[in-house]
Amino acid sequence: MVVVMKPGTKKEEVEALAQSFEQQGLSVGITNGVGCTILGLVGDTTAVDIDKLSILPNVERIMRVSEPYKKANRKFHPQDSVIQVGQAKIGGGSFGVIAGPCSVESEAQMIEVARDVQLSGACMLRGGAFKPRTSPYSFQGMGAPGLDLLLEAKAETGLPIVTEIMAPRYCELFEEKVDVVQVGARNMQNFDLLKEVGKMSKPVLLKRGLSSSYEEWIMSAEYIMSEGNENVILCERGVRTFETYTRNTLDVSAIPAIHRMSHLPVIVDPSHAAGMSWMVEPLALAAVAAGADGLIIEVHNDPPHAKCDGQQSLTPENFQALMGKVRTLVPMMGKVLV
Ligand code: PEP
Ligand code: MN
Repeated sequence: MVVVMKPGTKKEEVEALAQSFEQQGLSVGITNGVGCTILGLVGDTTAVDIDKLSILPNVERIMRVSEPYKKANRKFHPQDSVIQVGQAKIGGGSFGVIAGPCSVESEAQMIEVARDVQLSGACMLRGGAFKPRTSPYSFQGMGAPGLDLLLEAKAETGLPIVTEIMAPRYCELFEEKVDVVQVGARNMQNFDLLKEVGKMSKPVLLKRGLSSSYEEWIMSAEYIMSEGNENVILCERGVRTFETYTRNTLDVSAIPAIHRMSHLPVIVDPSHAAGMSWMVEPLALAAVAAGADGLIIEVHNDPPHAKCDGQQSLTPENFQALMGKVRTLVPMMGKVLV
């Protein structure tokens, strides 16, 4: 971090500030230029409060030269993180596909979809029991009984289950019943929730917020990791743009960008990006080609009667056709479909 002092700052004032940084465990290099003095801070500056610093009367400007995230930063962890869930693996050359309905609706639906997606090559089962809906009048999910239907589908197929947590009060229940805890786009910056899932032993699937930058998204992962849970999978699911044709705009650039910034695996959700089933396949394949570590796809046995997101859900047949192409493309990207 570089701190530029205002012209005319007295030597004693510069030294006092330098000393306060040294007390925080940083080493400080002082450079006296013509009419201006610069402090170069070396060490862990993640705890330095830039806002507080910038209102000091002698401080002209502050520049970060390193990222504010540490645990998620590829610089300090060059090798890819691999997240293992039972037999499934995501990251570091292992490509995993998570599939299932938007929401858990019934025992028959979950078991049928679970069997179908497993046959087509999915390695984990998704399904929301707690649904974040835009309208309070829409189906809100089955709640806790939905988790038991997911467990039944797991018992039937062996597929680990991925499902969304909406509030810290459910952590204990999810710890007991769920394999991967999904934090949805709307909760990406629910910092209390992030801290609580950070104390859990289960991997976390962290979706990108509706309008979040890469850095904000990684900082949310950092919240989870800083509490001790380093098993985080990032999921690009489209962001808000001026385009209204699609539900969201899939940001394919996020895949190579996040891979450069972080060692965490990045998977893609083409279903919520597209918002319509016919566009899911091309977006999914684009994600594989851009280097994604996996996909999460909505599949429903009867999309026209789905309680949530039927318009963007693939039928089991469409999903099988997509998986045929994924199976060809993944090895071309140097990865293994798990
Ligand atoms: C979902 O996966 O069903 C979901 C609600 O996704 P998102 O949080 O990305 O909108
Ligand atoms: Mn959905």
